[in-house]
Amino acid sequence: MLFGGIEAGGTKFVCVLAEEPNRIIAKSEFPTTTPQQTFERAFRFFRDQAVGIGDLAAIGIAAFGPVDLNRDSPTYGYITSTPKPGWAKVDFVGQFQHEFNLRVGFDTDVNGAALAELNWGAAQGLNTFTYLTIGTGIGGGGFVGGALMHGLIHPEMGHIRLPHDWEADPFPGNCPFHGDCLEGMAAGPAIEKRWGAPAAQLEVDHPAWALEALYLSYGLVNLICTLSPQRLILGGGVMKQTQLFPLIWRKVPELLAGYVQDAAILQRIDQYIVPPGLGPEAGVLGAVALAIQAYQSQ
Ligand code: ADP
Ligand code: ZN
Repeated sequence: MLFGGIEAGGTKFVCVLAEEPNRIIAKSEFPTTTPQQTFERAFRFFRDQAVGIGDLAAIGIAAFGPVDLNRDSPTYGYITSTPKPGWAKVDFVGQFQHEFNLRVGFDTDVNGAALAELNWGAAQGLNTFTYLTIGTGIGGGGFVGGALMHGLIHPEMGHIRLPHDWEADPFPGNCPFHGDCLEGMAAGPAIEKRWGAPAAQLEVDHPAWALEALYLSYGLVNLICTLSPQRLILGGGVMKQTQLFPLIWRKVPELLAGYVQDAAILQRIDQYIVPPGLGPEAGVLGAVALAIQAYQSQ
């Protein structure tokens, strides 16, 4: 059986064709331009690739947001209020359903990645865990009590507020809404703006990383205290700086200050805060997992 997956990011789209369950057999990447142009390229990929291999069973879309996930809403399946030009109020699911006339799974990119990590990665066997991506922005999702986190809208973990020592770090933050929220202080573009060089170019022992680990640890401590996840999975471009993990493993228990008492944190923190088991494929396999979930739910 054949499933289509679209990892729809603000800068690029990744489309894949996967054989059940998660073997990627074709892939195409292209920049996110206008919705019409970008959707056309995705349509073409699935039309060209699926011919001769067999029909698609379902498509999954793991999208940048915010998105409308409320099935009772007239704008279910839309990108809602993004500042990305041309993309606000775009009917993402509807256009793909119309084009291919099949089931379309839809969720945030991070919930997709969380589902893939549950099925095939670092969250197998868990029922409450969090997936956080630290890249161009910071986004979070995951499972609580065995269900993907859906609520009023979807979680916006990147926009939680943190203590900010202005003397130690005078950078005001660059979130257009909040300034110094987690995303405004710790996403890739914030690192670049604070230090005047792209994050990828900073040396592994640059002071940027201790500060980054501090902000991420504040964020994680908030998530630990509110969601009580059994594991936290950290992905995204910034986490390619793997030296961040040991810094975070030291900082999180320090900030929890002995209050949350569990062996997972006190003794096995390197298995508690982890990179995605699926590595850089977590995002796109998330889209495939959403397709499979949509297919199975019919
Ligand atoms: P997106 O968030 O757009 O889906 P990524 O998760 O790949 O994509 O994040 C891209 C961001 O991650 C870039 O803006 C950059 O700031 C940061 N980044 C990419 N590679 C590295 C690296 N090797 N080290 C640190 N930061 C990186
Ligand atoms: Zn914010």
